[in-house]
Amino acid sequence: MSMNCPHRSAWTERTSGWRRWDRETGRIAGGAVLALALSCSSNLRHSQETESYGFMSIDSGYVWARGPWPEVQASSDPDEVIDQLCPAIMRLDRATARDFGQEYCGVIYSRGDGIYRTTHPSPLGEPQLRGETKQKSCFPVRRVVDPEARVTPILADFHSHPWFPSPLSQQDKMAANQLYFLKIQFDSACQIQKIIPYLDRPDAPGEVYSRRGKRWVLIGIIKPSNKAAGIVTPVGGLD
Ligand SMILES: [Zn+2]
Repeated sequence: MSMNCPHRSAWTERTSGWRRWDRETGRIAGGAVLALALSCSSNLRHSQETESYGFMSIDSGYVWARGPWPEVQASSDPDEVIDQLCPAIMRLDRATARDFGQEYCGVIYSRGDGIYRTTHPSPLGEPQLRGETKQKSCFPVRRVVDPEARVTPILADFHSHPWFPSPLSQQDKMAANQLYFLKIQFDSACQIQKIIPYLDRPDAPGEVYSRRGKRWVLIGIIKPSNKAAGIVTPVGGLD
């Protein structure tokens, strides 16, 4: 079935899951296909937009988000920003609702002044035929809208999972999904993980960390030959 939905630019958690989803929808006749087509319409996409986030064009999965988000205090220490993020996001609609839940995506950026801020979290993602699924996704934020900033260099993207325990997924770790210097992910119990992908250093392994209290513990590396697939080699025997 051909659609105008921006599947390829989506941040999918499980490729096999989407394939299954496509096969299912392909088997459903008439009304469901029409519903899917409607769900892909720009009207629906527009209805999901707010003053704080939206689509960069009518037919893309590229999302902008406004910053700063007042729920998170700015800091020169990115970790102070990261530690505020999860509790704030978990207060949002369906952020902890597991199979009925919602992922949120955003970025940590600066105004070129060494002070880090976050955008509003965006729930924009693939249209879903039903509320309950084992897979969730939101589109990564590609552009920051901050009227007080002349530049908005992005340090990291972040996204939440509405389950616990729910660490970085395989898709989260793949090179194709590494957009910035850092990727931050957390679950509904605020277990935080971080990837430093080092995509600009082909000979350096990527690093995967878990936040324990106020420090980052290295839990795995991604060997250069494994970066594309995002295969992690554990270190330390934990996680
Ligand atoms: Zn994820």
